[in-house]
Amino acid sequence: MSISRRAALQALATATAAVAVPRPLRAARSREIPTDTRASILYDSTRCIGCRDCVLGCSETNGWQCEQALTDSPALTQSAPTAIFRFDGPDGLDLFRKASCMHCLDPACVSACMLGAMSKDADGAVTWNGDLCVGCRYCQIACPFTVPRFEWDTPVPSLQKCDLCAERRAEGLGPACVAECKMDALTYGTRSEMLAEAHRRIEENPGRYEAKVFGEHDAGGTAVLYLARAGVDFADMGLPPVGEHSVPELPETIQHTVYKGFAAPLALFAILGAVVRRNTKKLAEEEAAHHEVEHSEPVGGKLVTPATLTLAFLTVLGVFTVMWRFMVGLGPSTNLNDGYAMGLWIVMDVVTGTALACGGYAMALLVYVANRGKYHPLVRPALLTSAFGYTLGGLSVLVDLGRPWNFYRIPTYFWEWNFNSILLEVALCIMLYTTVLWIEVSPAVLERWQESRVTWLRRIAVALLPKIERALPYFIALGLLLPTMHQSSLGSMMLLSGHKLHPLWHTPLLPLLFLVSVVGMGYSAVTLECCISAKAFRRPQETPMLRALAVPMAGVLLAYAALRFGEIVWAGELHYVARMDRMSLLFLTEMALLVGPAIGLILMRRQAGPAFFSAMAVLVVLGGGLYRFSTFLIAFDPGPEWSYFPSIPEFAVTIGFISAEILGYLLMVKLFPILRGTGEEIRRGGPHPSPAGGSTAGAPPSPMPGQVPAVARS
Ligand code: SF4
Repeated sequence: MSISRRAALQALATATAAVAVPRPLRAARSREIPTDTRASILYDSTRCIGCRDCVLGCSETNGWQCEQALTDSPALTQSAPTAIFRFDGPDGLDLFRKASCMHCLDPACVSACMLGAMSKDADGAVTWNGDLCVGCRYCQIACPFTVPRFEWDTPVPSLQKCDLCAERRAEGLGPACVAECKMDALTYGTRSEMLAEAHRRIEENPGRYEAKVFGEHDAGGTAVLYLARAGVDFADMGLPPVGEHSVPELPETIQHTVYKGFAAPLALFAILGAVVRRNTKKLAEEEAAHHEVEHSEPVGGKLVTPATLTLAFLTVLGVFTVMWRFMVGLGPSTNLNDGYAMGLWIVMDVVTGTALACGGYAMALLVYVANRGKYHPLVRPALLTSAFGYTLGGLSVLVDLGRPWNFYRIPTYFWEWNFNSILLEVALCIMLYTTVLWIEVSPAVLERWQESRVTWLRRIAVALLPKIERALPYFIALGLLLPTMHQSSLGSMMLLSGHKLHPLWHTPLLPLLFLVSVVGMGYSAVTLECCISAKAFRRPQETPMLRALAVPMAGVLLAYAALRFGEIVWAGELHYVARMDRMSLLFLTEMALLVGPAIGLILMRRQAGPAFFSAMAVLVVLGGGLYRFSTFLIAFDPGPEWSYFPSIPEFAVTIGFISAEILGYLLMVKLFPILRGTGEEIRRGGPHPSPAGGSTAGAPPSPMPGQVPAVARS
């Protein structure tokens, strides 16, 4: 192993270890507000008769439609952010609970919000600011009580939740619900006063009250406190099993550990930059010593074919569906709801789509960090797929945003950035990485333009190409750093879903598992792309390359399986696997889809052909995709009142985006030098020794992703 490879692997190991072992550290809880100044409500369910005067008072004060708040449905609505829920008590008597925002001491919604649209007032009340809200609805996923309500049925939606009557508080008054309650079931004051009052009532009437004050410690503490009558479990009142830790504690701890002072990413970038620069230089020198280099060439052929026409039709269908979605809002065009606030467009197009688009990242790791030059011919097509995948993932986010007109504020309103928000890091990284990917792909376009008969295109190419060639090692380093950050953070995102995510998926290792599995999915995507493009363009199959690629692919998949299974054993959660219920079968299916191909590749790779490698790659793609769908949707359970299955328009948009990606890829490889030329090398199994030793299956690496270096061309 060369020094450069070792240095790079050490750097990556350090970064991933920082993600994996944050347990002893705690995120700075800098937003604490003293309990003697924190606005608080005590709700005594033993005094509540369910008259709903509080709801009417709230509705009149805040302009809600109170009729909807008077139903027995145990769910808040967009027009009734507070309601009285009725339950059958265990003693056969009615049981009431006033539901509204709990104004958590450490609110998950505030932690989730990218720009601080959800924030805490000076007295701790949690409020929403529409000027900063992009309508991503991550706060709904994060809230342990599923409180925020989104206006689904309008193209210009708002988010609704109790703000503890902000205007009345500004005038020194308490919330309207408290003022309207004739039974003294609601009391308003500071949190320390309310806690003292609650404990006084319990002590004076132990036969009347349960001994616990809900909210004193639950979910890390809430400003709305509940008292229940004796013998009633708070779960009987529809309160979820939130535990005593605040939901943001774990994900923020990870974020603060990894990104403290941004030192770790900067250090990793510096190391990657040095390693990539050194490796590309070394490989370019070796390249210069050989003269049999085969250039990438446009595949050529007709642009208008039945395949491209079909893809164009599906793309146009998707575009029209998107236009309709913007006219009617998310409600009529999707099956999303306040429980399942993220659906197919996010889970398929962004979370799974960008994972599959990580072929470029996975190959760059091999070629530029692990110094495996023999895989170099696969880099440029992989980068092109990545560029399309990330671009369309970004467009899907825009389609999914409820308030897309505020989108521009994410990258520009840096003074509003919430550094606790995992989604902010994901959004910024994906935007930057998409740009980096197109820069990495740009040499293919510029090489073509250099030969163009159009003078100004030729001039642009001649001026830009050498500059990009010089800067490319740093873009490659950035292209390695950014997916390491955001693909792991996509996993961290669901740590904020707390108890709603099944324990088999909710693990502190989520970021590491997402990162490792994305590399395996990247190799699978590259394998599939190789086999399909060879068949589609009647080119020789790159079987020697696929056999070589099977080794890192199997290694990564087995590492993922060991991490996943090891963590479950270590956390004492093996009993969830043994249950043989829906969730354990889901887990076992995921593992089988990822471990099965790994074993198959190890055993069969020497004699197998493209059909076998394609089949294994499909299984890995399904396994990795299922893991992401499980984490974001299938194993995510906001409560029995919610369900979700994508609507036909959601499918139409996703199919349209996938069609656009395939169409774009087809046109690019026909017009620009993406794939290798004659395929003669492929048949030979490669003319050069690998820079790392051993025979190669293709052209040795150049300093540019998939491109013959300038020195060799000259
Ligand atoms: Fe309210 Fe939910 Fe935010 Fe807590 S996390 S403050 S309950 S919206």
